[in-house]
Amino acid sequence: MQKKIFLDESEMPRQWYNLAADIKMQPPLGPGGKPISADMLAPVFPMNLIEQEVSTDRWIDIPEEIQGLLKIWRPSPLIRAFELEKALGTPAKIFYKNESVSPAGSHKPNTAIPQAWYNKQFGIKRITTETGAGQWGSALAFACSLIGGIECKIFMVRVSYEQKPFRQMLMNTWGGKCVSSPSNETAAGRAVLAAFPDTPGSLGIAISEAIEAAVTDPTGETRYALGSVLNHVMLHQTIIGLETKKQLAKVGIKKPDIVIGCCGGGSNFAGLAFPFLYDKINGADIELIGAEPYSCPTLTKGSFIYDHGDIARMTPLLPMYSLGHNFIPAPIHAGGLRYHGMSPLVSAAVRENLVTPIAIHQSECFAAGMLFARTEGIVPAPETNHAIAATIREANKATLEGKEKTIVFNFSGHGLMDLVGYDKYLRGELSDYELSDAEILGNLEQMKDYPKPN
Ligand SMILES: *Cc1c(COP(=O)(O)O)cnc(C)c1O
Repeated sequence: MQKKIFLDESEMPRQWYNLAADIKMQPPLGPGGKPISADMLAPVFPMNLIEQEVSTDRWIDIPEEIQGLLKIWRPSPLIRAFELEKALGTPAKIFYKNESVSPAGSHKPNTAIPQAWYNKQFGIKRITTETGAGQWGSALAFACSLIGGIECKIFMVRVSYEQKPFRQMLMNTWGGKCVSSPSNETAAGRAVLAAFPDTPGSLGIAISEAIEAAVTDPTGETRYALGSVLNHVMLHQTIIGLETKKQLAKVGIKKPDIVIGCCGGGSNFAGLAFPFLYDKINGADIELIGAEPYSCPTLTKGSFIYDHGDIARMTPLLPMYSLGHNFIPAPIHAGGLRYHGMSPLVSAAVRENLVTPIAIHQSECFAAGMLFARTEGIVPAPETNHAIAATIREANKATLEGKEKTIVFNFSGHGLMDLVGYDKYLRGELSDYELSDAEILGNLEQMKDYPKPN
């Protein structure tokens, strides 16, 4: 019985799948509540990526140079989790798509490489971004170093900068310039430092700094990059699901019964799930499950509204599930899932009942990750643990029903730089956080005068 299912490099997909061709989307809105034009985004993103952002073409070619760079680690293996199945005593067949094999250790380079490449094509010399725990920052630094001729500037949330020095070292190793945010380099950063010199920083502040650094560069050769949420990011990630389909076919599986991913901004879930969602829209019986943290329940307890992508309200209003742009999630270890909003494409799929969201507590997730590490061997990222916990729930259901279901989940990254979370779990020091409905509603109150999506 085959454990690892590989594709030959010649079988790597040559096009990305764009869900925007198959689902109804409402436009992002600018100041005054009017749909924004491509021109309004031009100071922030290069025009070739803006074209992808607004495209409704179903298939978009992956440029050959990008295919060449993705081959450093792609196609990634699809692995049958025999040992986990055995430990659970389940008749379910569990497969995981191992995105932790990328040099940065997660799925994020799948979009970092194309984003750096399109920026370079457009003549951009410098890319700015923010990073929380450091996964996106290291993926982009890696991509810029491979593409060459692009400087990568990363504003890293201060508390992570101090607590997670290894990600910072990784960024520097790939030639990125990582600074602690708030910094003295931007007006936004200086204002925060003057008012709150001891602030731990936040993703909201770091986004404001990164966008400001891009749009105020007088040479016009700097742009900003975002690692999730936006349509073009979901697009680039679909190579994950497109490969998975071919791999399942190799072992005679026509379609999985259940597809699972964890949800932060939505990109690794979308990457695996959207190609299967295409089949579902065309009649296939596939259940798609997005797993999020109980402490940041964007899809399960947030509202579908127009909201900003950042605390400083520098982004347009996006039609998405949100807990409110001012929402500061509890300090759980899955830093990549601590985001108030959700990809508008994933949000649209949830709203049309094509995707089932669930929320899981951090302790159940770490227990699941621990079982995975001790059976399959790979230590998962704390974010990935949400997908594993959801998979275990579904496998246990299959056991009760006595059904031999096929479950595929996205193994979005490894946790070798997140061992502090595991250490706390082993010491019994990990807490679960739960938000009251009143807290959530109170936070959403702030958006009551915003335009409403239909
Ligand atoms: C960033 C990250 C996530 C969450 O981001 P999405 O855009 O929702 O995928 C999940 N897993 C890992 C390993 C990450 O680095």
